Amino acid sequence: MVASRSARERKAAAQAGPLARVRIEVGAQEQFVYKITCTECTAKGHRPWSAYRAGADNGFMAAMDRWVFHLREKHPASDAPCLEFLAAAEQRLHERRTQQDATRARPD
Ligand SMILES: [Zn+2]
Repeated sequence: MVASRSARERKAAAQAGPLARVRIEVGAQEQFVYKITCTECTAKGHRPWSAYRAGADNGFMAAMDRWVFHLREKHPASDAPCLEFLAAAEQRLHERRTQQDATRARPD
């Protein structure tokens, strides 16, 4: 599990690019917890920007999606490898919103 975790951490860090600090912890239920912190947005006296998601591949994708949106919004000059997932991340966000709207619209 430890080797697999550090391999995932290296892969995620490479995808997230130089602005990100990626940590993968093992949670109470032996699940991976992904934490992506922005190294630049820590320097402003506020709490560091971070995405924190538990879960296996779902958690990884959710944390990375948030990171992709953060990069696009705050660091538009970045060319991190994960930006190639921007279209897919937007699609997932759109699907989540559509599902939420459908849930709200459903009569009791
Ligand atoms: Zn940032």
